[in-house]
Amino acid sequence: MTARNDSEVILFKSLDFIPIPILLSESRIDEISGRIQRIHRFVNHAFIEQIGYTLEDIPDMDAWFKTVYPEPLVRQAMIEGWANIVESSINAGIDTAEMQARILCRNGEYRWFLITAQIATENQSELHIVTMRDIHDLQLLIDENQTLSNTDVLTGLANRRKAEAVLENALSTAKGTELCLLMCDVDYFKAINDTFGHLCGDDVLVQVARLLEGLRQPAACIARWGGEEFLIVLQGCSLDEAHQIAEQLRLDLAATDFFYHNQQLNLTMSFGCISVQDNESLRSALFRVDSALYNAKSAGRNCVVMG
Ligand code: GH3
Ligand code: MG
Ligand code: MG
Repeated sequence: MTARNDSEVILFKSLDFIPIPILLSESRIDEISGRIQRIHRFVNHAFIEQIGYTLEDIPDMDAWFKTVYPEPLVRQAMIEGWANIVESSINAGIDTAEMQARILCRNGEYRWFLITAQIATENQSELHIVTMRDIHDLQLLIDENQTLSNTDVLTGLANRRKAEAVLENALSTAKGTELCLLMCDVDYFKAINDTFGHLCGDDVLVQVARLLEGLRQPAACIARWGGEEFLIVLQGCSLDEAHQIAEQLRLDLAATDFFYHNQQLNLTMSFGCISVQDNESLRSALFRVDSALYNAKSAGRNCVVMG
């Protein structure tokens, strides 16, 4: 970290007083390969304190990527991700590029940082300023919040909000791919609550959720839609296949002995099954699958009705 002139001495000294990790880099053209390399010239005290590496550990950008993303696939994704962000910043005429990254610190801990790099420099200096703000605790809170807001508290399945988001996404991106919906509802569930109590009802819902999760085909989403009603989103699946899946689930449920403490309970479920039409809206698809389920109830329950 040798300064080349007085202004660099002043700059390096000043940056040591800033409590945010800062790295200064410089572009250099490799004489043999002709490739532009990013050489690191300086890291401040906060950088060494919070991230742990010295300039000797990460003398250039290649060393940085190898050190902080030891997993090759992750590293490749981060290198490409960063190159894309830099390119979009340049195209948008923005002087900085910014990304969130989970990096391996010197002490072996992975932490989230917001990395902001100066991509254009003024004529008088070739140094690029890179700041790394520790957003780890905030990121964990955001992740936790996101998980909570997408999860049904009782069963741990996706909740209605998440199911709607998955469906919206499937409707807008999966044009041309078959998309089927199953909506199912426990038959006479109220009687379980009334006979054995609400806690028993809760426990049964959790057991039903586990059974639905045991679905042999991968589902885009298995959600608790509300109460004792569940929605299964099947992508890349024909209506015939969806029908068979629903029928198999119906049989499995009817054949399962559920237990609450030592009390054995048996239940059945009714199913509505539809194939989402091209350009169909979310509302329309949900209305149709709900109607099919309603018809399954009217038809005597413990059956699958196609919509
Ligand atoms: P059907 O065959 O027509 O579906 O009859 P059902 O008794 O299953 O349906 P109904 O809509 O009459 O009753 C559903 C009951 O589910 C009423 C409600 O109190 C109960 N319920 C909804 N959410 C929960 C829950 O989270 N836990 C428990 N234990 N019960 C719930
Ligand atoms: Mg019910
Ligand atoms: Mg219901």
